[in-house]
Amino acid sequence: MADKTYDYDLFVIGGGSGGVRAARLAALTGAKVAVAEEYRMGGTCVIRGCVPKKFMVYASGYGKHIKHAKSYGWSVGDVSYDHEVFATAMHAEVDRLSGIYHRNLVNAGVEVFEERAEFVDATTLRLKTSGKTVTARKILIAVGGRPWVPSSDELPGVEHTITSNEIFDLETLPKHLVIAGGGYIAVEFAHVFAGLGVKTCLVYRGDTVLRGFDEDVRTAVHEGLKEAGVRVITQTVFEKIEDTGNGDLPLRIQLKNGHHLDADVIMMAVGRRPTTDTLGCEAAGVALDKNGAVIVDEWSRTNVPSVWAVGDVTDRVALTPVAIREGHAFADTEFYDKPWHFDHTDIPTAVFTQPEVGTVGMTEAEARKAFGTVDIYKTRFRPMKNMLNGDANRVLMKLVVKADDERVLGVHIVGDDAAEMIQAVGIAIKMGATKLDFDRTCALHPSVAEELVTMRQKWVPEVAS
Ligand code: NDP
Repeated sequence: MADKTYDYDLFVIGGGSGGVRAARLAALTGAKVAVAEEYRMGGTCVIRGCVPKKFMVYASGYGKHIKHAKSYGWSVGDVSYDHEVFATAMHAEVDRLSGIYHRNLVNAGVEVFEERAEFVDATTLRLKTSGKTVTARKILIAVGGRPWVPSSDELPGVEHTITSNEIFDLETLPKHLVIAGGGYIAVEFAHVFAGLGVKTCLVYRGDTVLRGFDEDVRTAVHEGLKEAGVRVITQTVFEKIEDTGNGDLPLRIQLKNGHHLDADVIMMAVGRRPTTDTLGCEAAGVALDKNGAVIVDEWSRTNVPSVWAVGDVTDRVALTPVAIREGHAFADTEFYDKPWHFDHTDIPTAVFTQPEVGTVGMTEAEARKAFGTVDIYKTRFRPMKNMLNGDANRVLMKLVVKADDERVLGVHIVGDDAAEMIQAVGIAIKMGATKLDFDRTCALHPSVAEELVTMRQKWVPEVAS
């Protein structure tokens, strides 16, 4: 039952993965719970992130499978790709999932407001469309983030670009897609569109994509982009964009290095920012950092006792399963009297390049910084499947091992199904497995993953003689 002095025991702002998990669990205790979502239930992941992106990765991958099928004896006739057919199916599935999110909330007894909520004070919110004001004993901010783009002063012509929010709504494939950025989103979509046969160019300000990942992974992905036919331009950024109105490629990008590119679609993938600018956090006294992220402690508590925050809006680790865990921990702690908080170490993650990246734990550089000496085991090999199909891609596997007690600190894989492998390996890493544990695990033959337990030779850098 709701606290007499408040309309709700819990009001969640944002119907994404973290907010929905927290709201549903809290409501199942009999608490009076509401969620406000201004767009569609499901948040970035379901509506314009992980889910449709993964479908696009699958769609893109079929091109290669069909090509390779010939080497395995299949006769393949003329094939073509119809973006409308695929996009219709993808959107239908996204709609279905969004509906499930909505239904699950309602079935748990959560009241859903399909409108924006903003703070009036630490326990009061105003619903923007209806103008209604509600009070809640606890408020959970779970509004996520959105793509960041430079201002038109910083990048004249930026209005001619799209972001990952709009990329799913393209009705036809671009003729020449230029992507700015070298993070998760940039490299994933570069592969998606190159795989669909689109001329694709990626412009990155650094020298090797995926900053923050293990150096060997970065190199493998960088080379992999080029092998997939993506033109990769490094060490420069966009200076300005003009709509010339000319032919098929009307957008001219002037690069800071003096060169230019002509494109019909330009996608900015230069990072995401928390969506707090119009949330009214100042009215509630909720402290934000310089990027607008809600500052929280390990219990997802803000500086205001009635307000918590989970997920991308806190800018801890911007991944769906993390938001879900944070939301779950909040609900258990506040509504089930089962206090726990999420441990943000050793989170397995994947980048859905083609082939994909799976990684868990420390990079070699992080481990060396933390422990000094570390042992490295690594291998690059052509997987069995590629022996017949002519695919030149090699798998990378790397173990970062603590030298004194042989604990495996990090595992990094680039190769088909790396995401599936790293999810399982993540259990071992979380349990504190040692290299000996890996060694005494029997290999499963023939598989790509068996190499994880058969690497015996420590890797030593080659020394020029
Ligand atoms: P990232 O932060 O991963 O990458 C941003 C990229 O943009 C970097 O390459 C960065 O360069 C570059 N950049 C930043 N500012 C500028 C600028 N002013 N001019 C030019 N380039 C710039 O952001 P994403 O948008 O790719 O992804 C956001 C987050 O979403 C990820 O960190 C991840 O947590 C999540 N995500 C997860 C996915 C998954 O799990 N598979 C998929 C997609 C997103 P530099 O390296 O030099 O800083």
